[in-house]
Amino acid sequence: MGRPFLTDPEWPRKAAEGRYDEIRQCTACDQRCLDAVFSLKEITCTFNPAAGREREYALIPAKKPKKVLVIGGGPAGMEAARTLAQRGHRVTLFEKSHKLGGQLNLAAVPPGRGEFATAVDYLSRELYRVGVKVELGQEADVKTVKKHKPDAVVVATGATPLRPGIPGIDGSNVVGAWDVLEQKTALGKRVVVIGGGAVGMETALFIARQGPMSAESAVFLALGEGLDAETAVQMVRSGPQVTILEMLDRIGQDMGPTTRSSIRFALRLHDVKVITRATARRITEAGVVYEREGKEEMAEADAVVIAMGSKSESGLFEALQGAVPEVYPIGDCVKARTACEAIEEAALIGRKI
Ligand SMILES: Cc1cc2nc3c(=O)[nH]c(=O)nc-3n(C[C@H](O)[C@H](O)[C@H](O)COP(=O)(O)OP(=O)(O)OC[C@H]3O[C@@H](n4cnc5c(N)ncnc54)[C@H](O)[C@@H]3O)c2cc1C
Ligand code: SF4
Repeated sequence: MGRPFLTDPEWPRKAAEGRYDEIRQCTACDQRCLDAVFSLKEITCTFNPAAGREREYALIPAKKPKKVLVIGGGPAGMEAARTLAQRGHRVTLFEKSHKLGGQLNLAAVPPGRGEFATAVDYLSRELYRVGVKVELGQEADVKTVKKHKPDAVVVATGATPLRPGIPGIDGSNVVGAWDVLEQKTALGKRVVVIGGGAVGMETALFIARQGPMSAESAVFLALGEGLDAETAVQMVRSGPQVTILEMLDRIGQDMGPTTRSSIRFALRLHDVKVITRATARRITEAGVVYEREGKEEMAEADAVVIAMGSKSESGLFEALQGAVPEVYPIGDCVKARTACEAIEEAALIGRKI
């Protein structure tokens, strides 16, 4: 129960009072607890940045309740909106899609990451509990914002995937990692993922696991002698053959040590090939031509997946400067990073306005 107490120290009281829906669950992300221990940093929690800093993060009612618009229903926008409403502000949240959660909905798709969905569920329930008016399917622009005459606006418009100008990137065999995770696209038997950061690794694992048997089932069957070990390994590895191309000399450099080691282990289990110090030069119908140690080589593929980072969506924040009395950017729309910064900045702005 160590980590769950960081995420919600009030949970025993909430459980005793039958307020189960108000319990914020630990997502097992390890980012601000175990990873912090291994990096000799202060321990807190991705989804409860007040953990360990309760005095600085105390919720003090707003002296003068304001009309606040929050643009974007990802983790940053949801956390900011609920905190502002808890302090007595009148808050409306605009989300352009028909679903709350932003990128966390994608983060919850790869194997072993499903618990991120509990954070989206919790924040969505909280918005309704604390009385935030949620407008789904509403893309906010300067006109919409001005029409509402807000006292303050929080811009949490997030980030979108980068598509660098590699020759061939617009080919019909090329797809984005986000589209793969949203299961919008079918891939062939051989897949090359360009980019070995967190999103590239998790997408590679998601694809590689689309074989007839998961590693967990294989271990279960092999240990129970329902299947011989060799057949179990073959079945686990008979999904798509996946190769990751990474420019740096190590994959997963944007991940914490605990998650990186468990994903690297799972990639090895599923026989995902990793080629580091490899720069993609062009994409053809046959695959990806990459440069490694001064030589050009080919990684053959039926489909090429782009996982080369994200760019912040800061246009609305820039356009709103001077147009409304107060405007604050938070989360990935400042710089594409992780849910840790998104939630922390939201918690702080929620206490500042
Ligand atoms: C596959 C994947 C895996 C990830 N894994 C992790 C992980 O393990 N750990 C981690 O900490 N982070 C992870 N992240 C990153 C994390 O999800 C993001 O850093 C975080 O979601 C950023 O939150 P945000 O609210 O700032 O932006 P977003 O989540 O991008 O949300 C922005 C929202 O604003 C909406 N919006 C945009 N413009 C408008 C507008 N004009 N009007 C109304 N609405 C608008 C968008 O539709 C979106 O819902 C992952 C991301 C991806 C894609
Ligand atoms: S940082 Fe992640 S794993 Fe650690 S307590 Fe918070 S939600 Fe749980």
